[in-house]
Amino acid sequence: MPKNDLKAPMPTLPEPARRRFLSGLAALPLAAAVAQTSTPAQANTVKTSARIVIAGGGAAGLTAASRLASALQGARITVVDSRKEHHYQPGFTLVAAGIKPQGYVISPTSSYIPKGVEWVNERVAEIDPEGNKVVTESGKAVPYDFLIVATGLELHYAGIEGMDTARIGQNGLGSVYHSPQAASATWGALSQFADTGGVGLFGRPASEMKCAGAPLKYAFISDDHLRRRGNRGKAELIYMAQSKSLFGVPIVAEKVRMLFQDRGVKVNHEHVLQAIDLDKRLATYKTPTGTAEQAYDFINVVPPMRAPEAVRNSPLPWTEGPFAADGWMEVDRDTLRHKRYRNVFGVGDIAGVPKGKTAASVKWQVPVAIDHLIGDITGKASAEVYNGYTSCPLITRLGQAMLIEFDYKDNLIMSFPGVIAPLEELWISWVMKTMALKPTYISMLRGRA
Ligand SMILES: Cc1cc2nc3c(=O)[nH]c(=O)nc-3n(C[C@H](O)[C@H](O)[C@H](O)COP(=O)(O)OP(=O)(O)OC[C@H]3O[C@@H](n4cnc5c(N)ncnc54)[C@H](O)[C@@H]3O)c2cc1C
Repeated sequence: MPKNDLKAPMPTLPEPARRRFLSGLAALPLAAAVAQTSTPAQANTVKTSARIVIAGGGAAGLTAASRLASALQGARITVVDSRKEHHYQPGFTLVAAGIKPQGYVISPTSSYIPKGVEWVNERVAEIDPEGNKVVTESGKAVPYDFLIVATGLELHYAGIEGMDTARIGQNGLGSVYHSPQAASATWGALSQFADTGGVGLFGRPASEMKCAGAPLKYAFISDDHLRRRGNRGKAELIYMAQSKSLFGVPIVAEKVRMLFQDRGVKVNHEHVLQAIDLDKRLATYKTPTGTAEQAYDFINVVPPMRAPEAVRNSPLPWTEGPFAADGWMEVDRDTLRHKRYRNVFGVGDIAGVPKGKTAASVKWQVPVAIDHLIGDITGKASAEVYNGYTSCPLITRLGQAMLIEFDYKDNLIMSFPGVIAPLEELWISWVMKTMALKPTYISMLRGRA
């Protein structure tokens, strides 16, 4: 059993202040992701017989289903997804940090399917925007008047030669992203490493990715576990950055650079994991000058990410530009409407837009896309715009986090001005991540946040 070394003190408030703070937090619109006001879902105000298909029933698909169900009367809304288990992915890092049990991130998808919404429990195999239909793996055609694509993304582990997801948790191999089970197994591997020390490798892929803060968080979390066990001096931690920067927003990148320096985390820039020898514990990175090998005792593998096959093989991806190669959907960045198929929208991780691959972004994208869709039904064009809102509570040690929120223009956004400063390591941001974010997320799935 991995050790629980969280008994070491974490920053805290005196008890009365703490109680006051927590009850205040519960009364807030729950977390920064939902702190700003958004259009509440209207209650069955629009009558229509439109057929709306939602491909993918994860964070974005379920949120879209809930909002549509409460805004429309008479519509035929269908969610197509084979996944019966819903995964609260922002909690994976907490499971892999030994803070939450595996069950914390798992719940039944059925509990979020709104009344009156049909659920086709299959994967979409084909999207035919010319014929206005999707076809499931069993060959069932589901026609639509409007399509919302919310398939999320594919973790492309096969893009790393030698990687075997069945071995996550063994021989120093971690991979937080894969699944709740893998996050838990990664905690086992990290806990062992925190006992022995050695070389710990972290990093991210060169592709677009969901929650670009998560690989950084895990380096900080690992550093802290080593310190709590008195073994930091026995370990070398190396972060392999895919580019010349540590994060897409320059001011955040600089802050992380300073924190890594402070914690003694070495950074190798322009290193992308290309191959791994799981028996020898040897990682091979692509660099501008060739390849570089690095032996490790623990590694957190974050695979390349791309659009799922059903989208990649459809006419929906960008055909040129930075989002074309990995099949991201060609949507307008302001409205999330497809640029060539006007009755198709793309929300969540699948959207080929410059920012926005977080659950917090889903909160802001879905109402915009839906407002435009309903505008098509009513004939009243929507003026709603998604500004690229992306947010990530970046854990910097157990008990502290920096709440980072930004938009397409790399402007930092502050949901709690005067309470939470974006680039400060704060206990309040930690509480938000570990306690407030999940209820907020669940409210979002139900269309209430
Ligand atoms: C380790 C980790 C940490 C994270 N931390 C944070 C965080 O701190 N804050 C934050 O805001 N976000 C965080 N995220 C990101 C967040 O979870 C995602 O951005 C969010 O879930 C995206 O929602 P989505 O609906 O686009 O994709 P998902 O929630 O992944 O859902 C996609 C759904 O589509 C389905 N699907 C796929 N292919 C098909 C198909 N062919 N047919 C039908 N259905 C299909 C899948 O089964 C799935 O149910 C984190 C993610 C990870 C992995």
